[in-house]
Amino acid sequence: MDFKSLIGHCKEYGFIFQSSEIYDGLSAVYDYGPYGSELKNNIKEYWWKSMVQMHQNIVGIDAAIFMHPKTWKASGHVDAFNDPLVDNKDSKKRYRADVLIEEYAEKIEAKITKDVVKAKKRFGDDFDEAQFRATNQRIIDRQAQIDDALGRLATAMSDGDMAGLKSLIEEFEIACPASGSRNWTDVRQFNLMFNTQLGNIAGEEGKLYLRPETAQGIFVNFLNVQKSTRQKIPFGIAQIGKAFRNEIVARQFIFRMREFEQMEMQFFIQPGSEMKWYDYWKETRLKWHKALGTSDDKLRFHDHENLAHYANAAVDIQFEFPFGFRELEGIHSRTDFDLTQHQELSGKKLQYFDPELGENYVPFVLETSIGCDRMFLSQVSNALQEETVPDADGKDSTRIVMKLHPALAPVKCAVLPLLKNKEELTTKASEVFDMLKYEFNCQYDEKDAIGKRYRRQDAIGTPYCVTIDFDTLEDDTVTIRDRDTLEQIRVNISELKSVIGEKVSM
Ligand code: ATP
Repeated sequence: MDFKSLIGHCKEYGFIFQSSEIYDGLSAVYDYGPYGSELKNNIKEYWWKSMVQMHQNIVGIDAAIFMHPKTWKASGHVDAFNDPLVDNKDSKKRYRADVLIEEYAEKIEAKITKDVVKAKKRFGDDFDEAQFRATNQRIIDRQAQIDDALGRLATAMSDGDMAGLKSLIEEFEIACPASGSRNWTDVRQFNLMFNTQLGNIAGEEGKLYLRPETAQGIFVNFLNVQKSTRQKIPFGIAQIGKAFRNEIVARQFIFRMREFEQMEMQFFIQPGSEMKWYDYWKETRLKWHKALGTSDDKLRFHDHENLAHYANAAVDIQFEFPFGFRELEGIHSRTDFDLTQHQELSGKKLQYFDPELGENYVPFVLETSIGCDRMFLSQVSNALQEETVPDADGKDSTRIVMKLHPALAPVKCAVLPLLKNKEELTTKASEVFDMLKYEFNCQYDEKDAIGKRYRRQDAIGTPYCVTIDFDTLEDDTVTIRDRDTLEQIRVNISELKSVIGEKVSM
């Protein structure tokens, strides 16, 4: 399904609304509706269970959003949490320079793909794509241009070379003339942290930041947690919570928001063991995504070309969103950077005595960091599809269905009396609903023909529909309809809890 239709579907079915919509909305801020908040909670629960409940050596915390301002000086955010900003003087639009350059590169890539598709059509079965790409001069030139630009982009970003970024934008516009005018301001650094004031303390002294990541709440609590839970290295601290970034590019729906939620885990390890744990968490996190049924070809690793100031290795797990492969989760080897910095600025030791080595040290850290909202978007875009299925009369009809993993689905089971105006059926259905509602999130629906009700449940991703018909009144059996296969099985009401429970459990 295309991106625009996906956004429309999320609104129509109560998943996501623009924030303050009646006032024309607030850019890059969104509210989760009734089904959206259920799905988001299920994502968080699934992450928390697999990280905290399933690991003896990972514990959770819930730190405050406000932190002492020195935290952000120590972490490097005050000085270096910037994105390069550029304005188009003609359109008056504002862009993140690095994203703009990546988008130009994607446009050239799309031109290459177009040439390849055309040639495929022309040559039919005999077409050798690899050879065509290697010998067609136009493609070779375009590919070289992309490689050169992305290489220079990485260097300019790590050197903070704003003039270099501007030249890249200008060069690209010659290659993609349709992209707009060539009238740009200089590229400048823009700090992404939101700030506010503490109490009535005016000026710099009272300046507080809304946290731009949850990680620092974990670092400053490292010793509190280690001592109170008597953890031994290696061990992890996990946290789910809001983060705030004054993002420049504010399109792409919930992919890039100004207020969003992160699910982060910092794993404290012996210095020198980071590559072992880096590989371990890379594989573990990829498996986690695949266990939800996300297809292999929509997930890939992407190594960072330029490492952040705190990292000695970093990789993204990218997902193929409707607008291309983008970062879904980051796995970063953060060394001892954060703890050492906090030690220095706070004057408090943040060391661990390792009984195995018989020595004190500042641990190294391996981080896994995933945006809950991006995870939401990946699941919805992976699951939402339009397909042709036989209707009640056996004729073809189209349906919109959200094939979410049953454990993530907002509603696990819909209870539907076959007819609305037969009291025996509605009473029985209400009894079944009252029995099931203690086990999972269920919905009772008696309005409209049964086929229409099935479609409504398909559209919000309900994996099972239980129908109460006249046979139910005779023998206490009901049908369970499977959202994906459309198969209907007949089971006794007394078995419902265990049959559905087994399918929807995490
Ligand atoms: P990007 O390069 O897309 O800006 P990032 O590298 O700055 O992301 P991190 O700082 O590594 O992101 O944050 C960890 C995770 O938090 C990301 O993988 C992403 O899922 C999520 N995230 C970061 N920024 C946002 C945002 N503005 N809106 C929604 N999720 C976000």
